[in-house]
Amino acid sequence: MNGQESVGIYLVRGLPRIREGDDLASMIESRVDLMDGDVVCLASTIVAKAEGRAFFLDDFAPSSRAMEIAEPLGKDPRFVQAVMDESREILLDSPFLLVVTSFGHICVNAGIDQSNVDQGRILLLPRDPSASAERIRRGLSRDCAVIITDTCGRPFRRGVGGVAIGWSGIAPLKDWRGQQDLSGRPLEITLEAIVDEIAGMANLMMGEAGGGTPAVVIRGLDYPRSGDTLFRPVDEDVIRRRLRS
Ligand code: GDP
Ligand code: MN
Ligand code: MN
Repeated sequence: MNGQESVGIYLVRGLPRIREGDDLASMIESRVDLMDGDVVCLASTIVAKAEGRAFFLDDFAPSSRAMEIAEPLGKDPRFVQAVMDESREILLDSPFLLVVTSFGHICVNAGIDQSNVDQGRILLLPRDPSASAERIRRGLSRDCAVIITDTCGRPFRRGVGGVAIGWSGIAPLKDWRGQQDLSGRPLEITLEAIVDEIAGMANLMMGEAGGGTPAVVIRGLDYPRSGDTLFRPVDEDVIRRRLRS
């Protein structure tokens, strides 16, 4: 990744509408000849569909708390209940629902989607996206990394972009600490969120609308294979503490 000249980025074409039980690993491999070291990026949408995470709003019986939160937001209380069921903590309940999902990802509405889903359905994120990535990776015949992406809004900046919500076979962070800068000064704190950078590019290629291209293969990237998590522990998350107070 340091001093690399180029990488290849390939859209996987021809995937059908994904349904519960579909074997994504073999569906990808029947459409692209993977090589060892490839990074296979999948939109969380298709992983969720394959895992049967599409529900009807009526599947969620709203609690009184869900109704309270839904009212000023002008949201369907059943939708709010679905968000609450998927969350371990609500950080903001106005002007939108910002939550910590059960697997530690912080996002609006627990990442529940209503686009690119069958009419009348909502699609929850995979229950444990890194476990999904690991399972899919093991289903591939090559030694690849797998990243599961979702499109998210960002604080401070306009515009959505792709982030990694699960990964396997790749370290989420590249550790630059100890390497020297141009003046020979050792870097002290730089951890680079490489899975998010890759997810951003993959998400750009996938598009957001009806393009039907939820999988991207990145070839020729040199990346570390294992390492820490991306989600900040609460005790080092200054912004989260401020939101709570
Ligand atoms: P998210 O970012 O994970 O929430 O996914 P999006 O809804 O933005 O979809 C990303 C890409 O995947 C878009 O190009 C969609 O058209 C495509 N997509 C979504 N669901 C399916 C599906 O079931 N089959 C296929 N072939 N493409 C899909
Ligand atoms: Mn999404
Ligand atoms: Mn998207």
